[in-house]
Amino acid sequence: MKIPKIKLIPQPETEEAKNAVGYEWNEVAGTRHFLGGQPDELSESEYPNCSVCSNKMTFYAQIDSIGDNYDIADCMVIHNFVCFDCNTVTAQLTQTRA
Ligand SMILES: [Zn+2]
Repeated sequence: MKIPKIKLIPQPETEEAKNAVGYEWNEVAGTRHFLGGQPDELSESEYPNCSVCSNKMTFYAQIDSIGDNYDIADCMVIHNFVCFDCNTVTAQLTQTRA
């Protein structure tokens, strides 16, 4: 199954949240959030198999590092996968070129 790409845009609502978003030296990192589509730096053959039923999982979302103060391993993104057969979810970190 492939979900169409739906871009997600952070909407920080407090001053503290606004200060948490983004990087001082990288304009791309912190903006790479989306549902569906194709995960950055990962081809479909690399998608994980479900740990419960062994079926190929569906790419569900890419969640970026938030910013300088909430950075994941030097601007890595989290790739989330769903098994629509048995509703198992998994996530993995991926290094991107941004
Ligand atoms: Zn499954």
